Amino acid sequence: MHFLTLAQLFQKLEHTSSSNQMQLILSDFFKSSKDNIKQVTYLTLGTIASSYDNVNLGMADQMVIKSIAQSTKQSEQQVKSDYNKRGDLGNVAEQDTKNKRATLKVTDVFTQLHAIAETSGSGSQSQKIEILANLLSKSTAVEAKYITRIALGTLRMGVGDMTILNALAIAFSGGKSGKSTIEQAYNVCPDIGVIAEAVIKNKLSAIKPMIGRPIKVMLCQRAESITEIKKRMPSGMIAEEKYDGERVQIHKETENKKGKESNVTLFSRRMENTTHQFPEIVEEIKKLKGEFIIEGEIVAIDKQGNMLDFQTLMQRRRKHNIEEYQSKVPAAVMLFDILYFDGKSLLNKPLEERQGTLKNIIGKSNSTLKFTRRIKTTNVEEVEEFFTECLERDTEGIIVKSKISPYEAGTRGYNWIKWKPEYTHLRDTFDLVIVGGFAGRGRRAQTYGALLCACYNKKKDTFETFCKLGSGFTDVQLEELPKKLQKYKVPSKPSRLTIHQNMKPDVWFEPKVVIEVTGAEITKSPLHTAAETEGTGFALRFPRFLRYRTDKTSEQATTTDEILKMSK
Ligand code: ATP
Repeated sequence: MHFLTLAQLFQKLEHTSSSNQMQLILSDFFKSSKDNIKQVTYLTLGTIASSYDNVNLGMADQMVIKSIAQSTKQSEQQVKSDYNKRGDLGNVAEQDTKNKRATLKVTDVFTQLHAIAETSGSGSQSQKIEILANLLSKSTAVEAKYITRIALGTLRMGVGDMTILNALAIAFSGGKSGKSTIEQAYNVCPDIGVIAEAVIKNKLSAIKPMIGRPIKVMLCQRAESITEIKKRMPSGMIAEEKYDGERVQIHKETENKKGKESNVTLFSRRMENTTHQFPEIVEEIKKLKGEFIIEGEIVAIDKQGNMLDFQTLMQRRRKHNIEEYQSKVPAAVMLFDILYFDGKSLLNKPLEERQGTLKNIIGKSNSTLKFTRRIKTTNVEEVEEFFTECLERDTEGIIVKSKISPYEAGTRGYNWIKWKPEYTHLRDTFDLVIVGGFAGRGRRAQTYGALLCACYNKKKDTFETFCKLGSGFTDVQLEELPKKLQKYKVPSKPSRLTIHQNMKPDVWFEPKVVIEVTGAEITKSPLHTAAETEGTGFALRFPRFLRYRTDKTSEQATTTDEILKMSK
């Protein structure tokens, strides 16, 4: 496939603001051209590999300016002043490119962008500039625009993984009804390129867990009462302590026969590779036999092994001085599940059996590898007793899991139900996405007066506004807001965001930053679009900022379904 064909698709998508329309455009495209599907999907998302692969092209504005100057035979100064005028290097590259004949293939572009990503070490900057310049010199104007944006990581057409899954379902699986099969496979293999290829080749059923490729994590629902929990789990409950740490999925390769060490990879809930942050956990896992994927919650502990809070653990989120912090803030992992063992997926095995297998593999717990505290019961009173005991130990609450449940990757279902002390006051918090900012006045002249926050509509893959948030920030947090949000600024309303006419912020943000917000009450509102019916949505009254949820992606924000439920 010629890259021009793809660039023309991008042009169409860029000028489409409805996500339904985007899905249709993409599905028509997939139907008409199945070539290079893997590469096409990555590039459409503005990247060159799956999100968990952590591939980084490492190209800053200054470097791309040099590439454009070289390829168009202009001075850097000329390109810079053009950039100042246009504000987007993609538009600059498009304007300055005079080639008429399209010769580049999708594969050429993909391979060269990979070459840029793979160039590292001394002299790599100039090599990267050279490769991009070479690619641009072979591009037509419209191709140059999109190549530049991909190189900079600023493609942002509003296409997300879900948009592509929906488009694939429309094209090949009988419309949205076929989406659940595709989505299930995607939850086990969140690599959009692999999924697209499998859909086209009719090989979705062959998708299995794989070492080194994260599986989307299973999450909890909320319940109205402990009695409701029991009703939903008639075959027995496993109640576990809920820790306030960081979810981890640990992948261990089998040991090499020649006595070579096996590879261990740690993934966060956002599927980021966090292996380097926790060497003590990696070391302990390496001592174990077999090939497996297990899960737990990483917590910070003191020298006596007592659990410390989430903020303390966050000090371990660093690239440098790992050793120093390893001894300052030791970590342990509280293990609770196993998803794969020695070539076999365990996703469909009952929880009780999975936990038995986990116990056999780990053996005795030690100061780094531990098991979550838990009880097995069918009795509500015992669950309540366990809950009280957990609170005395200062943990967040409990998670009650159905004893017979499979591991439902990527699902927030009723097989895992959390129960926290604040539920007794019916005041839960919301994880919302920042989508807009209102200019501040007076004391807040240098920052934002309020932020427009949205929840996520999973069915429609849209963000819907839920509150205008101005309180709960410390002075320092307020002061830092503009800088923190700067890189998410976009010139117009993000395409997956739905708003009401009278709710227009002064600036728009790409839906990326998730924050935890508390509030007094959920009420109906004609100003917001959350779970909207007939022009009336829901709004959170008296919202107050609690903290940033850097561990969540925008698609993991509170959903409109959850809000609907809480509003009843
Ligand atoms: P919250 O905001 O209430 O912490 P959440 O929205 O982040 O919850 P939930 O699905 O409600 O996520 O809770 C699941 C999370 O709880 C997991 O991702 C994990 O990090 C954490 N957790 C702590 N203890 C356990 C446990 N024993 N079993 C499973 N998850 C646990």
